[in-house]
Amino acid sequence: MSTSLRSGGEVDLVVVGGGVLGLAHACLAARRGQRVVLLERAEFARGASVRNFGMVWPVGQPRGLRRDVALRSRELWRQMAEAAAFRCEPTGSLHVAYHADELAVLEQFVAAEPGAGFEVLAPAEALERSAGLRAEGLRGALWSPHECNADAPAAIAALHRWLDAQPGCAAIVRTPVVAIDGDRAVTADGRRWRGERILVCSGDDFASLLPEQFAAAPLRRCRLQMLATVPQPGGWRLGPMLAAGLTLLHYTGFAACPGLPALRARFEAELPLHLRDGIHVLVSQRDDGRLVIGDSHEYGPEFAHDVDAAVETRILDYLGTFLQMPDATIDRRWTGTYAQRADGGFGWVREVRPGVGIVTGFGGAGMTLSFGVAERVLDGTFEEE
Ligand SMILES: Cc1cc2nc3c(=O)[nH]c(=O)nc-3n(C[C@H](O)[C@H](O)[C@H](O)COP(=O)(O)OP(=O)(O)OC[C@H]3O[C@@H](n4cnc5c(N)ncnc54)[C@H](O)[C@@H]3O)c2cc1C
Repeated sequence: MSTSLRSGGEVDLVVVGGGVLGLAHACLAARRGQRVVLLERAEFARGASVRNFGMVWPVGQPRGLRRDVALRSRELWRQMAEAAAFRCEPTGSLHVAYHADELAVLEQFVAAEPGAGFEVLAPAEALERSAGLRAEGLRGALWSPHECNADAPAAIAALHRWLDAQPGCAAIVRTPVVAIDGDRAVTADGRRWRGERILVCSGDDFASLLPEQFAAAPLRRCRLQMLATVPQPGGWRLGPMLAAGLTLLHYTGFAACPGLPALRARFEAELPLHLRDGIHVLVSQRDDGRLVIGDSHEYGPEFAHDVDAAVETRILDYLGTFLQMPDATIDRRWTGTYAQRADGGFGWVREVRPGVGIVTGFGGAGMTLSFGVAERVLDGTFEEE
């Protein structure tokens, strides 16, 4: 860290918020030689960015602008992982099908995107790539080569360290920003940093800073329930990150598939509580071998403080239909919240006054999109569809 910046100062860019979006802007600006200060209120980032699956997941983005940003972001993730020395592994992903209607949607998805790298695998090929898949009833899988798996808390910590080590830059924690006064960010203890540009990447906290701008924004909060197993024994690795039939209802990339309404109708009849709770099941792996499993979706301004055991049971029941892991003991449970556009728009990127901007609202894809969005914001080329 540049010690002279600890108590305040002048830089090219001040970033408020040390989650993945704040870090992406700060790190890319630092790579361009800019002087950057990042101000995080907690001892370490505590928001969505350390609670997620660590999935860089372009396959979940609809083709066009969002997929392009996701694929570029993936490249930048790989570059930053090399620079900052954390794992961002190109595992690819499998969406597995155990029903004819699921396989039909996967085939329609691949047929609509020739040349995009997607492929439908026969059951034997899917089983070869993924050691834990249940063989019985498997009808095929969508293979995508684009996805990368990082251990989210480890990646965020590594990016903080990398930024802090860059000349003229500092990542400063335990520093809540309480006001933007002209071109200065002001902290609770009265320190001030002047920035040519100030970017507020405060995640789903709409109240602490610039509340009037957030009140007018089409943003909502979403809460997810998550679980993790104990580290899998014997160095067992998941391989490609996994999704299954319920996920086809979740990501808009599958929305145009003609078979989707029939698939939805079956799930509405068979798994109404899963749909009510917004459950679809994804699996990734942490550096220590834990499997990260989720999730559910609940929307609102505020949420219960506790975890719903029935939701957890539904997630695990569905997981059991497609994955057998060596050790299924769950020893971590948590919730996470993120900010999302309530109108389906692509994130919330706004200049609230000259030199001061807000970047948030990328929903369940903020990890995936972060670096791609940041590059465009820094270039002044970010646009919505
Ligand atoms: C359970 C879960 C699973 C997910 N899985 C994935 C996934 O696998 N792949 C994917 O692409 N996306 C995923 N997402 C979405 C993704 O994690 C989020 O979109 C992304 O992390 C949002 O990043 P952020 O930096 O905007 O917000 P946050 O991570 O919430 O960071 C905001 C930071 O700003 C700080 N802050 C706020 N206000 C102030 C202030 N006034 N002063 C100083 N600091 C402040 C907070 O302390 C916080 O650290 C998931 C989200 C959740 C919750």
